[in-house]
Amino acid sequence: MADPLYPAPIARVVPGSPAAKAGVQAGWTLLAVNGVAIPDILAYRRELARGETTLRVRDPHGQPLEFTVEWEDPGLEFDEVIFDGLRLCANQCEFCYVHQMPKGMRKSLYLMDDDFRTSFLYGSFVTLTNLTEADIARILNEHLSPLYLSVHATDEALRREMMRWWRLKVKDQRATSLDYMLKRLAPIDLYTQLVLVPGRNDGEELTASLEYLATHDHVLAVACVPVGLTAHRVNLPKLRPFTPEEARDALQRIHTIQRRLLPERGSRFAFASDELYLLAGEPLPPAESYEGFQMLENGVGMVRDFLSEPLPPLPARLEAPKRVLLATGQLFAPILAQAVEPLTRIDRLSLTVRALKNRTFGEVTTVAGLLAGRDLLTQIAPGEADLLLVSPNVLKYGTETLLDERTLGDLRRELKMAVMVGGSTLRALGETVLSSVQVSSLPQFGFSTHAVKEQNAEVRLKAG
Ligand code: SF4
Repeated sequence: MADPLYPAPIARVVPGSPAAKAGVQAGWTLLAVNGVAIPDILAYRRELARGETTLRVRDPHGQPLEFTVEWEDPGLEFDEVIFDGLRLCANQCEFCYVHQMPKGMRKSLYLMDDDFRTSFLYGSFVTLTNLTEADIARILNEHLSPLYLSVHATDEALRREMMRWWRLKVKDQRATSLDYMLKRLAPIDLYTQLVLVPGRNDGEELTASLEYLATHDHVLAVACVPVGLTAHRVNLPKLRPFTPEEARDALQRIHTIQRRLLPERGSRFAFASDELYLLAGEPLPPAESYEGFQMLENGVGMVRDFLSEPLPPLPARLEAPKRVLLATGQLFAPILAQAVEPLTRIDRLSLTVRALKNRTFGEVTTVAGLLAGRDLLTQIAPGEADLLLVSPNVLKYGTETLLDERTLGDLRRELKMAVMVGGSTLRALGETVLSSVQVSSLPQFGFSTHAVKEQNAEVRLKAG
């Protein structure tokens, strides 16, 4: 048998498993299952689901080995989920965050992932404009549902203007038609998003997009997210952030359709991201209106989720004096300051919320999750607190590394103070402040759509 196109590195072998009994070890490579090449973990699972399965592997010296399992997990574990390379996007969206990144950030931030498989596996939003007929057939045959689809506008001409797909990178022009794709993917549930650009796809275009999407039963929800801008927009179309009035107008349109659809669909269907409420200066809706926080990773309901568990019972006085600094982005700082106000009344606890400017991405970037190590180092004085708490969003997923490859260890050393990540809820944050013991590092106080996506991208980069 010829070597496959996509050898899959085996990270671990479960002790006592069929693979272990066959002599397979970590560091070997999976070549094929049932004689077919395995481009990704989904194909691997599909072949195993056939029952009797023959796996072909290779040791580091190139020596192949075959073993068979029958309705059993072979015991192979992979760090990767995509073995044939991540599918990159075929667009050049006018608002693309990757195109306005400063240099020197970690690799995953520059990844232009538009892979339907990671959308299914991790919930990342994709445009699907790079799909082939074979891809569509695979989505349907394997029922890869739900998928997360970036729509932006349902008017085809406007969508084309905003997304500006590369003619040469689009393999099948039909994939660029939203109408065509919604019809083809009718058996697949879709969570969708509109990245809202003021003066472009807000106003009447927003209403029209929501109305159109609501006519498709398999479109389960729409997340409306304001465009994210940085100071590094070089040779890119001129875009500006939302004014409070424009954000309020967008919210009003979203709330109007929510009211209409709730009795009809049993769901509000359209959801505004936290950022839109904060830009508008409007109060966040109650937790129940997020209907289970299904779009949390798109910045929809993160703040409400954080606030949903209140502070723990507080002492009147600490046994010893303690200075605590909470560092977050400009947008979230007022909400955080209000939420932790009861902590400031504890005797011998000095608590400060520091709204950091983002000097890495530019001051137009106000979300917490895009603060880099240098932003903390330049706006916090060494020794000014005993404990610094930062948002988990600023860290590379599962590590203590920030966007610019600085680590919490670097911060501890240079700032001469304890540095921890804040909790996933207000309660956890309060407990960490009081105990100086990290309660939880997932997911965040402060929020950033981009940071959450990037955390997923980090997993995907590892996988691809
Ligand atoms: S699809 Fe995403 S990665 Fe590709 S250009 Fe648009 S915003 Fe950028």
